[in-house]
Amino acid sequence: MPNDKEITESGFSGGTICYEAHGNLYLNITNRCSANCYFCIRECSDGVYGYNLRLSREPGPEDIVRELEQTDLTKYKEVVFTGLGEPTCRLETVLEITRWLHERGIRVRLDTNGHAKLMYPEMDVIPELKKAGLDSVSISLNAGSEEMYEKICKPSLKNAYSSMLSFAKEAVEAGIETRMTVVGGTGIDIGKCEKIARDLGASFRVR
Ligand code: SF4
Repeated sequence: MPNDKEITESGFSGGTICYEAHGNLYLNITNRCSANCYFCIRECSDGVYGYNLRLSREPGPEDIVRELEQTDLTKYKEVVFTGLGEPTCRLETVLEITRWLHERGIRVRLDTNGHAKLMYPEMDVIPELKKAGLDSVSISLNAGSEEMYEKICKPSLKNAYSSMLSFAKEAVEAGIETRMTVVGGTGIDIGKCEKIARDLGASFRVR
């Protein structure tokens, strides 16, 4: 049942794709993830800001474009891939929609767990994102060590922590505006996390 706070009436019946907050337009394109963070809102909620982000099916690129075409994108600071899941579980769709937005002069950000290099070993993930026109990326650092990361995020892929750091390093080197974030109150060493982010050339934020 479409939520009454859905922005557009595109006809997509699988759930909320677009939602707005903080002057941005957010895109919810999957509920899947390659991690299982203990603080993940997927465990305790169906969404955020009053939007139900549970998808009964994932929107195809055509569904997403249809919604975007019905939205005045100029009123947002940026369009952000985020939502109730990890956007890069659908990297091809992220690339396609990023290209579409970039061609229209819309600023695009990707919020990610940074596992895409592991998910797509056959692809040059960062160069592809850069080529598509991605402006900025916000990467969940979440911990100051692999041991802590494994406990907090329970990634389904091996070497997820080092791959996430490498994702961040490559993003910085590619000239994509890069931010790394942690969740406060999880018992991690925030100062250590900030140093890791800054040493990689990224900005840092506690969520
Ligand atoms: S990476 Fe994000 S979506 Fe995935 S489990 Fe962690 S908080 Fe949830």
